[in-house]
Amino acid sequence: MTLPPDNEVSFKDSVNLSFDLARATLEIPDGMAQYIRNVNNVYQVRFPVKINGKIETFIGWRAVHSDHKLPAKGGIRFAPQVNQNEVEALAALMSYKCALVDVPFGGSKGGLLIDPRKYDRESMEKITRRFAFELIQKDYIGSGTNVPAPDMGTGQREMAWIASTYNSYRPGDINHLACVTGKPVSMGGIQGRVEATGRGVVFGLREFFRTPGDVEKAGLDGGLEGKKIIVQGLGNVGYYTAKILQEEDGAKIIGVLEYNGGLMDPNGLNVEEVYRYKVDNQGFEGYPGNGEFVPDSSVLLEEECDILIPAAMEAVINQENAGRIQAKIIAEAANGPVTFAAEAILQEKGVVSIPDVYLNAGGVTVSYFEWIKNLSHIRFGRMQKRYDEGKSEKLIQAIEGTGHKVPQALKEQICRGSEEIDLVRSGLDDTMRQAWQDIRERFWTNDSIHSYRIAAMSIAIEKIHNSYRTMGVYP
Ligand code: NAD
Repeated sequence: MTLPPDNEVSFKDSVNLSFDLARATLEIPDGMAQYIRNVNNVYQVRFPVKINGKIETFIGWRAVHSDHKLPAKGGIRFAPQVNQNEVEALAALMSYKCALVDVPFGGSKGGLLIDPRKYDRESMEKITRRFAFELIQKDYIGSGTNVPAPDMGTGQREMAWIASTYNSYRPGDINHLACVTGKPVSMGGIQGRVEATGRGVVFGLREFFRTPGDVEKAGLDGGLEGKKIIVQGLGNVGYYTAKILQEEDGAKIIGVLEYNGGLMDPNGLNVEEVYRYKVDNQGFEGYPGNGEFVPDSSVLLEEECDILIPAAMEAVINQENAGRIQAKIIAEAANGPVTFAAEAILQEKGVVSIPDVYLNAGGVTVSYFEWIKNLSHIRFGRMQKRYDEGKSEKLIQAIEGTGHKVPQALKEQICRGSEEIDLVRSGLDDTMRQAWQDIRERFWTNDSIHSYRIAAMSIAIEKIHNSYRTMGVYP
């Protein structure tokens, strides 16, 4: 794996340097800008858990970057290399992301230093529940204060344990299910949350390809169909992104990269098949289908393609390898995959980055829908589905009454009331389209803004600043 060079600034500094560039395009008092830029509070906890008869100590963090809107929102990451700096950087990105896509949350993030691959299910449950208890005790979890979600190394299973732990410590809280999002549907989760970040990436890319000026800037033309795509990290975000791009948009997934090797085929790989193989065999080595197995997958980031989608972790494109990247577009599905220094090199080469702060916002957007569902205690669509169907049927009857026959397939389409999944996808699509239009307008109309990232950040900072102003923090 290509590690960032020693002189590369940290993830948090990368985020803050982007903040500084964006802030310079806005009229914000210095003191206020400093306040918005810095993390408001961070809790570090050490706790013991008995595993196989032995006591092990774990260390974790929950950072709140901003609480101009409550609850603060952000995932919990379980990873062997997580640290406070990383958690703070991720919390800051959450603040900007939520503001950008108009999700009314502050920004937060959590991390637990652990290699989840080394523990069985029973041990993971004990560790997760204990970590959740520590956070609940200090008010770092609660439907009105701080609401975690899945991130790298966590998923529905961990969110269910957190919700259940919260419920046992706050039994009278009628809104207890809203204390965490990304839960299984059977436990108050929402249809479409598991795929949400990946589907949001696809909605973002579709909107990009709908605007010829942006596509031209990247040196491409046409739509997503047939575009050659490499995806790094076939986990939650990478898998759904690749699968939807292949199955719904006709894109060609020519490379999939994991930490222990990658698969490459210029004619395209079958995402579903390689993913199933990866899950069963903990990697791509020995895959019997088409594609060449490359043990050091990081070299595949440098292969020629139209779109490179880093969907694993931060700083994978850095000063060391940025000069060799041949992709036309880097679609940042992961958080912070391109370092600040690498961004400058890529810009010089004409590579277009669609920034993380926008592109992976689908997860928190659908988390917002789940939180609303939990607070309103009703599934989306329950009240209006049959009503809408009845109205559409009457409309069809009226049309057919004039002697015009409506084809059966069209009739079924028109008369089908919306399910929760339809509403979730529609809300997500609308959010991603609107945010991209805001970003591109800021980018194309402001001479001092030279990247979509800085355009996105400047919108976000402006909105957060306006919140504080409205609140009366200063006149
Ligand atoms: P995940 O744990 O489900 O998947 C990550 C995948 O990347 C795994 O398959 C892992 O093996 C692989 N990986 C790890 N290191 C790698 C390396 N060096 N090279 C290649 N592959 C590597 O995590 P996820 O939830 O899909 O998150 C991925 C990224 O997306 C993270 O940056 C996360 O912060 C970001 N993100 C996730 C969500 C979400 O809803 N899950 C939302 C927004 C952003």
